[in-house]
Amino acid sequence: MEDQPKRCRRCLLREMTGQNDYYESVKRYRATMPAAKRTPDADYERRLAACKECRHLENGTCMQCGCYVEMRAARTDMHCPLRGGPW
Ligand code: SF4
Repeated sequence: MEDQPKRCRRCLLREMTGQNDYYESVKRYRATMPAAKRTPDADYERRLAACKECRHLENGTCMQCGCYVEMRAARTDMHCPLRGGPW
């Protein structure tokens, strides 16, 4: 029987083993973003906490828009595709 890739519902990249390269990219992306565009840490964590409660989060990806949520939440001008506004 062939191994199926594991699907992790309501997991962020930073919580998933084997996704370290992607998560390092997320961290670099945030670190190099102009401060005016970077979501402040507390707001960033609040956004990610909302994604963790959402049934559309799978393998760190929002199944509504196809983005890694840790990337999407990093920018102040991005929004949750379901809510149509900031998380
Ligand atoms: S961005 Fe919105 S729809 Fe997507 S996983 Fe997060 S809370 Fe859910």
